[in-house]
Amino acid sequence: MPYDKEELETFRKSGKILRETREEMRSFVKENMLIIDVCEKVEGKIRAKGGKPAFPCNVSINEVAAHYTAPPGDMSRIPEGSTVKVDLGVHVDGYVTDTAFTVCFNPEGRSMANTAELALKTAIDNIHGDMALGKIGGLIETTIKNRGFKPISNLTGHSVGRYLIHAGSSIPNVAGLSINKVRTGEVYAIEPFVTLPDAIGRVEDAPQITIYRLLKSKSVKSDPAKKMLKHIETIFRTLPFAERWLVGVVPAEQHKVAFKELFASKAIMGYPVFVEASKKPVAQAEHTVLMKDDSCEVLT
Ligand code: MN
Ligand code: MN
Repeated sequence: MPYDKEELETFRKSGKILRETREEMRSFVKENMLIIDVCEKVEGKIRAKGGKPAFPCNVSINEVAAHYTAPPGDMSRIPEGSTVKVDLGVHVDGYVTDTAFTVCFNPEGRSMANTAELALKTAIDNIHGDMALGKIGGLIETTIKNRGFKPISNLTGHSVGRYLIHAGSSIPNVAGLSINKVRTGEVYAIEPFVTLPDAIGRVEDAPQITIYRLLKSKSVKSDPAKKMLKHIETIFRTLPFAERWLVGVVPAEQHKVAFKELFASKAIMGYPVFVEASKKPVAQAEHTVLMKDDSCEVLT
C-alpha cells in the first residue's frame, strides 16, 4: 500500500473540503457573472474550510475544455446560454483531491453534462484494483456513445499523489489496449469529457496560458524575479498556480517584468488552455477515488 492510515485520513479530509465546496458552488454560478468571482469564491471557500487550492480554480466555457483560470484583473464574464466547467482541487499537507462539475445554461449542454456524470458513475461503480486502464476507458466511451455523444479522446484521468496532480498513470476516456492497471491503495481522479457526436473529439493547445508551475529552481537575474521565485518555491512547490496568486509579492510596478523574467528563463512553465479542435462545446464530471481490491471509495 503506497499510503499509510494517517495519509489516507488526510486524503479524506482533503476530499471532504472539496466536496462541500463543490456542492456550495453548484447554485452560485450564474450567467453574466465575472469568471474571476467564481475562481475567487471557490479558492476562498477552500481556504476557509482549512484546505489550500491544489491548483487555480478552472472555469472553462463552451469549446474551452480545461485550463482556463482568471488572469489578474480578468473582466470576462460567463456568457448567456453557455456550458461552464468548474474544476477545483484541494490539498491538505500536499494530499491532493480533484473534482469538477458542469453548469449549463442550455438544454444540449445539460444533456452532455448528465452524460459525463453517468459515465463517471459507471466507471466508479465498476472500477477495482487490477482493472486494465483500457477497459475503464472502454466503459466510459461506451456510456457516452450510447447516449449519442462523443468522449474527448486525448484528455484523461490521472493518479494523484503528495504535491502531485498528475502522479504518473492516466485513466483514458476511450477504449484501448493498454494492459497497465489501476492499483489498489492508489488514489485516482476519473474525469470523462463529453462533446457533440459531430465534433472531432480532441483538444488542442490554444495560445493563451493562465496556469503555471515551477519548472526548475534556478538563478534569475533581478531581485523582484528572485523574490517571486522564492515565493513560488515555498508556497506552491510543485503545484500549479495562477498569476493572480502572485499579486502583491513584489511591488505592483515590478510585477509584470518579474513574472516575464521567470517565464522567459524557464524557471516556470505554463499550461496552455485546451480547446476542442472543432470548437464544439464540452462538458466534464470528475471525482477522486481511493482504489480498493474490489471497488473504490469516492473521496470527493
Ligand atoms: Mn480536475
Ligand atoms: Mn483531474
